[in-house]
Amino acid sequence: MNEIILVKDGEISLKGLNRRAFEDVLKKNIKTTLYGLGKFEITSAQSTIYVKPLSEDIDLDEACDRISRVFGIVTFSRAGVCRKDMAEILDFAPEYLKEKLEDVKTFKVEAKRSDKKFPYKSPEICRELGGKILEQFPHLTVDVHNPQTTVTVEVRDFGAYIHTDPIKGAGGIPVGTGGNAAILISGGIDSPVAAYMMAKRGIKLTAIHFASPPYTSQRAEDKVIRLLKKVSKYSGPMTMYTVPFTKIQETIKDKCPEELFTIIMRRLMMKISQRIALDNDCSALITGESLGQVASQTIHALGCTDEASDMVVFRPLIGMDKQEIIDISYKIDTFETSIEPYEDCCTVFTPKHPRTRPILKYVKQAEEAGDFGDMIEEALKNLKVTHIFPKEDY
Ligand code: ATP
Ligand code: MG
Repeated sequence: MNEIILVKDGEISLKGLNRRAFEDVLKKNIKTTLYGLGKFEITSAQSTIYVKPLSEDIDLDEACDRISRVFGIVTFSRAGVCRKDMAEILDFAPEYLKEKLEDVKTFKVEAKRSDKKFPYKSPEICRELGGKILEQFPHLTVDVHNPQTTVTVEVRDFGAYIHTDPIKGAGGIPVGTGGNAAILISGGIDSPVAAYMMAKRGIKLTAIHFASPPYTSQRAEDKVIRLLKKVSKYSGPMTMYTVPFTKIQETIKDKCPEELFTIIMRRLMMKISQRIALDNDCSALITGESLGQVASQTIHALGCTDEASDMVVFRPLIGMDKQEIIDISYKIDTFETSIEPYEDCCTVFTPKHPRTRPILKYVKQAEEAGDFGDMIEEALKNLKVTHIFPKEDY
């Protein structure tokens, strides 16, 4: 059977002159997400993107599932395609929508006729098709105000498209139209959610993870990779840099006052991340910090952390409660992975009594005592690069 996916873009349409550019990015992202499923033709006309499978054996359920996670899409519909011929529409539509129509009690028909040369006007299409459906499914009644399903016929340039209720898309704006930023990713609950939220606003991600072997294990790093694979179903592929952080952390432990361990560690993370970000054409850093969640996330501590880099730092979770963050992590399917109990470098050498009101002047003095310059350069020379794709198997 001949089927197609019709995609309606969202905020894109607000962008006026940039519309074409936004739509091109969205089309490219749709193409990327469908990678490996077979050949598709992706075109756009009349504020709709047409995703047409070019062979019969393509798994359209899987294609729809992947498309449901592409940002910049408000709704999409899986539609049956037939010729722009009234008799054919009347034959094809009830057959194509059989399962859905057997499942409901009330319906209405909506017709959109963007091909004005089609000899039937919209009300006529609705009337004829409505009659035909009632005839074939006698259990149904028409309810124009509150139908359980709406049968839509779109008569467009290249054919008639038949579908029922559109599926909600991921919203947001297309990844790649909002610039590039680097997400500091741990194995916890928060940072994958932060990554997802910024990708939703069109940001293309680069990931940075700090590892401190042997205090942290390869399995902890693998867990981060698995989390990023899940995020990349939304954000698209990305590059991950693993920073060897052991020597720096050991030096913090040896040379800095215990109550400032965490804040100094976070400042050094920001310094190193900024360098990686600049090398990767990123204009901002992203963290999963949330105000007041832990000692290093008080207003004073965040102020000290911020001062360590010149870059804008996005903290999309800053005003959220833990439960709100957890709800999103369930939605994007990262929660179960996040709670696997592997150590993070943040949890090695944690002070018993971290300063919740660190004073920048003293933090900087303590940091200078550690003399971290060469260690930062050394870490930057030894980055490990991993390419992240949405494939499950790792
Ligand atoms: P998360 O759940 O994201 O780990 P958290 O609430 O545990 O966050 P912290 O451990 O204080 O908070 O970390 C705050 C933020 O610092 C994280 O959200 C993340 O952006 C960054 N971060 C923490 N550990 C690492 C790491 N090992 N590598 C990279 N970034 C990290
Ligand atoms: Mg953490």
